[in-house]
Amino acid sequence: MLVRRDEFRASKAMVHRVMNTPNIEVHYNSEAKEVLGDGQVVTGIRVVNNKDQSEKDIEVTGFFVAIGHKPNTELFTGVLDMDETGYLITKPDSTATNIPGVFACGDVQDNIFRQAITAAGTGCMAALEAERYLAAKESGE
Ligand SMILES: Cc1cc2nc3c(=O)[nH]c(=O)nc-3n(C[C@H](O)[C@H](O)[C@H](O)COP(=O)(O)OP(=O)(O)OC[C@H]3O[C@@H](n4cnc5c(N)ncnc54)[C@H](O)[C@@H]3O)c2cc1C
Repeated sequence: MLVRRDEFRASKAMVHRVMNTPNIEVHYNSEAKEVLGDGQVVTGIRVVNNKDQSEKDIEVTGFFVAIGHKPNTELFTGVLDMDETGYLITKPDSTATNIPGVFACGDVQDNIFRQAITAAGTGCMAALEAERYLAAKESGE
């Protein structure tokens, strides 16, 4: 596992799990520079130490990238209001967006918690609000 800083930013519990998993080797201040291969499969990665710029190759058979969070909201650019990092903006205590009848829930509108349970909670809110919106339309409100 390559960590760009000299420490983890993750929760203590997650760090504890990583540090106690025997087949995870942690490399701090390290960034992937190149994925190495034999033309068929991945055989390693070239890693650069961002403190002293030294390089080393690590033998691996797979490479998985997980850096930061980027909400998958490009589709709505110019349509739904979003903040500078792409999170959809919803009205306070609501999942309503700037367009009536369009509700946003889950990670695309949550830049703080980003958890399954909070996503499910706002999903429930959005479902109820959509139902109420349609019911109000039907009754001519
Ligand atoms: C590595 C990792 C570990 C995590 N661990 C935990 C944990 O331990 N506990 C926890 O509570 N949370 C955890 N989370 C966070 C949790 O997974 C998310 O908060 C949750 O899945 C958000 O739910 P969501 O429905 O908002 O988004 P998602 O689960 O991302 O669902 C969005 C769906 O929309 C689909 N989609 C995207 N674009 C389109 C499109 N244009 N058209 C149609 N469909 C589209 C996607 O394919 C996806 O199925 C973890 C997340 C990651 C990445």
